[in-house]
Amino acid sequence: MSGLFGVINTKNESEGVAQTAYYGIFSLQHRGQESAGIAINNSGTFMVHKNSGMVADIFDEVTLNTLKGSCAVAHTRGGSDRETGTDAIQPTLIKSRVGNIAMSSDSVILNDHELRENLKNLGAIFQSNTDSEIILSLFSRNRIATDDCEHALLETMKEIRGVYAIILMTENKLIGIRDPWGMRPLSLGKKGDTYMLSSENCAFDALDAEYIRDLEPGEIVSIDKNGVTSLYYDDSVSSEERIRNGKVCIFEYVYVARPDSFIDCTSIYDSRYRTGMALAKEHPCECDIVIGAPDSGNAAALGFADGLGVPYGSGLLKNRYVGRTFIKSTQEQRELAVKLKFAVLKTAIAGKRVAIVDDSLVRGTTTKHIIRFLKENGAKEVHVRLASPEVKYPCCYGVNASKGVDLPARTKTVEEIRDMIGADSLGYISLESLRESLKGIHCGCCSACFDGNYIAGTEEAESKTE
Ligand code: SF4
Repeated sequence: MSGLFGVINTKNESEGVAQTAYYGIFSLQHRGQESAGIAINNSGTFMVHKNSGMVADIFDEVTLNTLKGSCAVAHTRGGSDRETGTDAIQPTLIKSRVGNIAMSSDSVILNDHELRENLKNLGAIFQSNTDSEIILSLFSRNRIATDDCEHALLETMKEIRGVYAIILMTENKLIGIRDPWGMRPLSLGKKGDTYMLSSENCAFDALDAEYIRDLEPGEIVSIDKNGVTSLYYDDSVSSEERIRNGKVCIFEYVYVARPDSFIDCTSIYDSRYRTGMALAKEHPCECDIVIGAPDSGNAAALGFADGLGVPYGSGLLKNRYVGRTFIKSTQEQRELAVKLKFAVLKTAIAGKRVAIVDDSLVRGTTTKHIIRFLKENGAKEVHVRLASPEVKYPCCYGVNASKGVDLPARTKTVEEIRDMIGADSLGYISLESLRESLKGIHCGCCSACFDGNYIAGTEEAESKTE
């Protein structure tokens, strides 16, 4: 996963643009902590600053002051097995036949192998293993035969199969793209003469900007000195239909997005709270205190506590300053990693029957260590409730870490998983209730990791067609 942010001042003023991009990706840090970068356009001259690490470690005041320009794209990136090395750090810059281009993307291109080979056969040179280079290479080629960037991007979208959100900066435009399924979120905001594009609208709140709307699935939104225009992947259907047919990743609501964000008209916090209320109906339990697995389990835990009429408390705290712990090879070291990451408030849980609500269970290893940790610190019983159904299918769209993993829910019963993690009871929300918790959502959702319905296709399917 990645956080994308773009900003353009339509009066060509450069004051504060780099700082806006910085605060934009700072607000999106939860979407990726491996690397970050900002590319800026100063009247056609592009500059980029990017590196490995957290946003606040990469940029300081001096660096930001050197980044002058009226338009910027920024990126914060999570770890990926597909895209590795410093060449994978975004934004990606190229000099094309039609000028400088910078791009931030959050994508999984399923037919990447086929596209890369075709492009190589046409003479393209690649420096990295990233999807960004494929997209930019296709775009540059298509731009030669089209009248404008937007139609070149439309042609590119027709060649790509996969899921993506993209922010692209040309020498006079800022362009945002959401894939035809709308699986990745992307929204439009405004402050005075400045337009912004962001993976989540929480960045607009931080910048005191107005959230205008989410991009529609398959929309290419283009912003320049004349304002905002749109082009659509499928213009044969109405906006309502396009939105209704969208399939945003349901995990955005479960754990990816920040609780204060809205995606496709639904509050992340409210939907998480409602999953807790639904869990209290579907899987009530006798307990003295309800706690959340920080941070994404907290809102659901509050809903669960309210639904049961049991006190909600803080029993587990997350140490926000723990980066990567490279000490996970033995059982003892893995337990130490959990202890470094979480702290138990002994006085809140000692001698009590504790219900802990977490967003999901993929492998179950962290949950197992947390349960043991709670019991070691005096919890009499630990009941686990999960705000998502059993993860039975791997995500091939780059969201949760289920790919190549032995998913216990595929082969084990709920009772066997309960036994494996050492809980006193275990309950998963049903997919039906999870969907109902997204009250007010204007589009549909991808839920392939629960039901195996890979709406945008799979890599396996792609490799068979190559
Ligand atoms: Fe999201 Fe699951 Fe679909 Fe992946 S498979 S995009 S995690 S809902």
